[in-house]
Amino acid sequence: MAKYLVVTGGVLSGLGKGVITASTGLLLKSLGYSVTAIKVDPYVNVDAGTMNPYMHGEVFVTDDGGETDLDIGHYERFLNASLSKKNNITTGQIFMKVIEKERMGAYLGQCVQIIPHVTDEVKSRINEVARETNIDIVLVEIGGTVGDIEGLPFLEAVRQLRMEEGADNVAFIHVALAPLLSTTGELKTKPVQHSVQELRRIGIQPDAIIVRSITWLDNEARRKIALYSNLPPPAVFSVPDLDTIYRVPLILNEQGFTKYIAERIKLKYTDLDLGEWRNYIERLTNVDREVSIAMVGKYTKLHDSYISIIEALNHSGALIGVKPKLKWIEATEIEEGVIKPEVIIESNGVIVLPGFGRRGAEGKIKVIKIARENKKPLLGICFGFQLMVVEYARNVIGLSKANSTEIDPQTPHPIVDLLPEQRTVDRLGGTMRLGLHPIKIATGTLAYEIYGREIVYERHRHRYEVNTKYIDLLESRGLTISGWSIDGLPEIIELKNSSSFYLGIQAHPEFRSRPLNPSPIYVKFLERAALSTR
Ligand code: GLN
Repeated sequence: MAKYLVVTGGVLSGLGKGVITASTGLLLKSLGYSVTAIKVDPYVNVDAGTMNPYMHGEVFVTDDGGETDLDIGHYERFLNASLSKKNNITTGQIFMKVIEKERMGAYLGQCVQIIPHVTDEVKSRINEVARETNIDIVLVEIGGTVGDIEGLPFLEAVRQLRMEEGADNVAFIHVALAPLLSTTGELKTKPVQHSVQELRRIGIQPDAIIVRSITWLDNEARRKIALYSNLPPPAVFSVPDLDTIYRVPLILNEQGFTKYIAERIKLKYTDLDLGEWRNYIERLTNVDREVSIAMVGKYTKLHDSYISIIEALNHSGALIGVKPKLKWIEATEIEEGVIKPEVIIESNGVIVLPGFGRRGAEGKIKVIKIARENKKPLLGICFGFQLMVVEYARNVIGLSKANSTEIDPQTPHPIVDLLPEQRTVDRLGGTMRLGLHPIKIATGTLAYEIYGREIVYERHRHRYEVNTKYIDLLESRGLTISGWSIDGLPEIIELKNSSSFYLGIQAHPEFRSRPLNPSPIYVKFLERAALSTR
């Protein structure tokens, strides 16, 4: 039977609850248990796929094609495991299911209500993950902040879960902020106290409190929080701002968190060996050779929009002993001339980021031209890949009006066009080409040098593709298609007989990059970019 650890948040969102959940998972996994994690998002969207990354951060894609919250990415990276779309539960999914059941007559005769019908559905979704994965421990992170109206049905469901599964099998971890008052230099505990009171008001007594703050929590503040929360002081843990999120499991473990949780839900505890993780952090943080990477996109003001790419670069940097220094380039500012081409020329490598729509596309194309002509290591991801092909068609082959039909539906040269199966799609939610698909790698190419295998699997999220009508032309003019989908679509491009790193990929290799097992594409890109720093 599975044990459940529920993580709630207080005071405000954005405290790193996802990282704390992922860290808890890593610690329990290190104890020898199998662990999975569920993110509950109390918004009414069915999934994150239709949300603007500018407001919500990256849309993370799972193997099975889920368009999920970026916290699923944290879970995968810390747990070193691939999760399913079922690990992200939203209000939209729950309501849809309940309403569908009501229409089917499943509740015939009854008045369908939040309690018990919606809460039952929530519990059944949580239990389903536990059952299907046959797992020892399920972490359930409730998104948002305690007190949000949207979160109430979920909190009620996990309250019931404890009753049903037994107190030894369910524990609550509450993460809340203690703000630092700059005038007195004091950490204020009142907001934490209030958020705990809010939790208790709805019937949940937390078993542990993790206090987020700028600095370490002192003993007096810990004692105060414990007292008001009805807990002993050792049940209150401190997570200050750190140089890297990967340190969170270590500092929690050092404070006795793993032991405390293990005892609380009756797990066998032994001292953990976190040596490998510690080594990784050592390699990640003890490097001084910087490699500057121009990150070209249109959501650059919110770095969370590209979090998996940032992480993939960090994982790669730790492996090869360099520190990626990211220079964010807003594509529209290149377009308008606000950012000068020198910025691109002076960087050690360029990544053209994924994206959608017209805004900034011409800026990206301009950057690609500069990078190609100056032989800068260039990596194009998804939209970046598509625009590399557009740039090539325009400036090398001479089809000056070549474009993607996503940007210009009337272009005389639709080098990038809708995937055939997308033509009949009329709903935008969950209808892209999504998830893990095989890519056939051509031997004797840079792609083959990178992967060392003829079939690789990467995750996808796109509606458009390189138009197969142009393949012969592109290949005859010096572009090599070194990766193909099973049904013959270009997946990876590079330059024929070129010594510079010029590679575009339709997939998103960053989603499979892990701290101890970085994405080989990012590793090779960074390696090549690092060459020009010597
Ligand atoms: N907008 C492009 C498409 O839909 C690329 C998507 C992306 O970069 N993820 O195909």
